[in-house]
Amino acid sequence: MNFNYQLKLSRRRKTVAIKVKPDGVVVYAPEGICENWLQGWLSSKQSWVAQKQRLVADSLPCKQTPIEKVAIYGEHYTVCYGHSSGYIDHQYHCIYIESSMQQHRDNHIGEIYDLFKVELEAYLHARLPYYQALMGSEYKTLKVRFYKRRWGSLSSKGVLAFNSALLSAPKWVIDYVIVHELAHYHVMAHNQAFWRIVGRYNPEFEKAKAYLKQEMKIIL
Ligand SMILES: [Zn+2]
Repeated sequence: MNFNYQLKLSRRRKTVAIKVKPDGVVVYAPEGICENWLQGWLSSKQSWVAQKQRLVADSLPCKQTPIEKVAIYGEHYTVCYGHSSGYIDHQYHCIYIESSMQQHRDNHIGEIYDLFKVELEAYLHARLPYYQALMGSEYKTLKVRFYKRRWGSLSSKGVLAFNSALLSAPKWVIDYVIVHELAHYHVMAHNQAFWRIVGRYNPEFEKAKAYLKQEMKIIL
């Protein structure tokens, strides 16, 4: 046998099973099982166990650096793992997620972006009516999700979309993206007429543009 294991015998058990855990292999078997039969059966499972062990090792935290901090509204928040429910605590600057640190980094990122989406949606629902009325712009549907290459967009069909990752930016930068996208209701191209509209409702837009370019990265 080329793997070590812990044998757990049980009077109630009728079948044999192997579990590959991060801290070792456990074999479950009925009490009084024939030792020779068990050895033979385990030998036949060697390659399966080796494959499982590789999978388990790949998901271990030593293979990845955990995300310790994320930016929300331009401020640092600590990521707290293994919580019973995911939420953002603005008072203590913590983001609680359900995944444990042992889980894969992709789970952490996915969960963080889900929370970002909910938070950004709430912020947009509070801000959009104000800017819409101010700018005389309209849209049909609001969509917040993760995009690799853009902060926002307004389609000709009236779909107003924002990148969940935008939540990392300070509120004055998010407001610039709102004004930018709503200005596309009047002018689709990024021409002089477009920037004049943006400047009218967001005089410091150049600063916000620079912030997005220099301080923000889309992927965590
Ligand atoms: Zn644009």
